[in-house]
Amino acid sequence: MTAATHSPLFSPIPDSADAVLDGLDPEQREVATCLRGPMCVLAGAGTGKTRAITHRIAYGVRAGIYQPSSVLAVTFTNRAAGEMRGRLRQLGAHGVQARTFHSAALRQLQYFWPKVIGGAMPRLVDRKIQLVADAAAACGIRLDRGELRDVTAEIEWAKVTQTVPADYGLAAAKAGRETPRDPAEIARLYSLYEDLKQDRSVIDFEDVLLLTVAILQERHDVAEQVRAQYQHFVVDEYQDVNPLQQRLLELWLGERDSLCVVGDASQTIYSFTGATPDYLLDFRARHPGATVVKLVRDYRSTPQIVHLANGLLAQARGRAADHRLELVSQRAPGPDPVYTEYTDEPAEAEGAARRIQELVASGVPASGIAVLFRTNSQSETYEQALADLGVPYQLRGAERFFDRPEVRKAVIALRGAARFGGNDSLLDDAVDLPSQVRAVLSAEDWTPQPPAGSGAVRERWESLAALAHLAQDFAAARPDATLSDLVAELDERANTQHAPTVQGVTLASLHSAKGLEWDVVFLVGVTEGMIPITYARTDEQIEEERRLLYVGVTRAREQLYVSWALSRSPGGRPHRRPSRFLDGLRPGSAGPAGRGLPGVFGGIERGFAATAGAAEAADPMGTAGSSVPRRTRRAPARCRVCGRTLTGGGELKLMRCEDCPSDMDEGLYERLREWRAEQAGRSGQPAFCVFTDKTLMAIAESVPDDEYELARIPGVGMRKLRRYGADVLAICAGQKPGTETGQN
Ligand code: ATP
Ligand code: MG
Repeated sequence: MTAATHSPLFSPIPDSADAVLDGLDPEQREVATCLRGPMCVLAGAGTGKTRAITHRIAYGVRAGIYQPSSVLAVTFTNRAAGEMRGRLRQLGAHGVQARTFHSAALRQLQYFWPKVIGGAMPRLVDRKIQLVADAAAACGIRLDRGELRDVTAEIEWAKVTQTVPADYGLAAAKAGRETPRDPAEIARLYSLYEDLKQDRSVIDFEDVLLLTVAILQERHDVAEQVRAQYQHFVVDEYQDVNPLQQRLLELWLGERDSLCVVGDASQTIYSFTGATPDYLLDFRARHPGATVVKLVRDYRSTPQIVHLANGLLAQARGRAADHRLELVSQRAPGPDPVYTEYTDEPAEAEGAARRIQELVASGVPASGIAVLFRTNSQSETYEQALADLGVPYQLRGAERFFDRPEVRKAVIALRGAARFGGNDSLLDDAVDLPSQVRAVLSAEDWTPQPPAGSGAVRERWESLAALAHLAQDFAAARPDATLSDLVAELDERANTQHAPTVQGVTLASLHSAKGLEWDVVFLVGVTEGMIPITYARTDEQIEEERRLLYVGVTRAREQLYVSWALSRSPGGRPHRRPSRFLDGLRPGSAGPAGRGLPGVFGGIERGFAATAGAAEAADPMGTAGSSVPRRTRRAPARCRVCGRTLTGGGELKLMRCEDCPSDMDEGLYERLREWRAEQAGRSGQPAFCVFTDKTLMAIAESVPDDEYELARIPGVGMRKLRRYGADVLAICAGQKPGTETGQN
């Protein structure tokens, strides 16, 4: 699944079923072509799971094996479902339903309600938390804001695990849940909450699934009708299925077995709501004849990013972690992740916004950049910082694009112009489709240049700009297309909620970024208390937070910026510390206690407002201010040629795999060896005590320019750097050792 810039909006539709398989690796092909029987794909982030299943559906449809309308593809967010619909259309698989569990159930419930229950379906409640607050007030229980949130989450958990109020206490104890209040109190609140809903004739999000399940269970005629409609099921992100969704899936499936699930247990990020990777991991036990496919090639991210992702997973614990799959990047090397420490949150937001501004100025499309945070409340600071610099951003989910008033109005105007055709004077000077569209949009007060500033005006402009871009891409793909064709395309997109790309930096929570990808990702607010979030207390909760960070890291294709702030507000006490999950991975940090990680040196960036305390935190060697560069971190090392994670001592010294090609300067190597022999002779110690061969090779390969670069080479510790650094750098610079001024 891709955000924005990488999937051309109108790539040519494959001209045959076989052509759908082009661009799949052998394992993905297996997923796409084994169309019968249960299948389970277990694979890490960015390995092409979503790609494999969309191609599977498209292949099935194009080969005539699946009736499009008999396929139901299910995923977890509207955004992901919209993206999947878009992909299916591009592959020529029209008419396939791709929905979230919720929207598929809602549709069925709306359809069957009048027949099964009678009357109109009750309204869906928009603010569950308010109802819980009302229930608390009604029974005289005082809840603070945090408790209110936690009790609401408990009610949701009870519902998705199909636990009634009377059983809540027992079920919560059995599941080992840390309840925010006395379980008997929560059960009371839960019961009252259900009564209140009934009194007010509303249903909640979970009721949609519960009621659909109840109807399918009790009414065989309805179940048969649904089963006659849907025969093949595909579920993406199956690690996040909860027992209620699983039950619904089983009811849809009946006795049949045309089910394909894909998932990554390491990306389980909804277990606090009752989701569990157990259904994914136990798939074969439940479906003994199932084909299980594993994918390990990561097509999304550079070796540098994959390396960090693997490093995070290496520290994970628990059932999901037992099934982790080490990712192998298929991409060319890119820049190292950048870690930046700031004094306070506004400084962090400003720092990120400035960097984003530079990236956009250097040609990175804004839509290829995302800022991801742990809680939605962090969004505002970033909105403000981006707005201050005039950088466009988008918050709204792609699914609502066609509901935006400006888009609706523009589509009506385009439809009108298409109807008038050449007789519309608006179009007099417009020679081609893109300029016709621009002319119509101009009549809606749209200008090709963005307005200054941000906010609603800018968002409106971005929506219309997205339509203008879409027209351009459409005309490029279909040169003889008319305005009427474009309007038909827009209608179809509106029906399938396939939104065009809006140019703007995406601001999103880590949870909502699941399945998506961007060229550049900023992971912000990576502190203790934020990730892991303060209320994550049990080991399982902490592990879930780690997986959430893993999801964040693996959203990046090329560049990753990780940052944190030491205090909340300017002038505040700098008491925060970076997330424990980065220990051993970020510059300036030791590995997690008792867990050795292979080490290299690296750098940490300092936000422009960093404090002395921050400098100290990032400088455990206490060398800041001295002329010797800091030895800043221990972190997993990777081959500088192919990017593979290095583990052996020899390869760690070389900073490449032993069999990857060497680009060593042979002459330099020889000069270094001569110098080493001289040093060893002078001090009466063996040559390898000065530097080993591998270290000399690594120096001759990387030809460091300064002490900092030299210090990054494994085998060049502080002591050796002080003692030999100047000599080695002089030799590397083609000078005679001992000739440099200032040498001691
Ligand atoms: P996630 O776990 O984050 O959901 P995923 O396993 O679903 O990831 P996709 O989103 O399907 O992965 O693919 C990741 C990226 O790799 C996409 O840009 C996709 O187009 C690309 N990709 C996948 N398979 C291939 C392939 N065989 N050749 C080239 N690119 C590929
Ligand atoms: Mg995916």
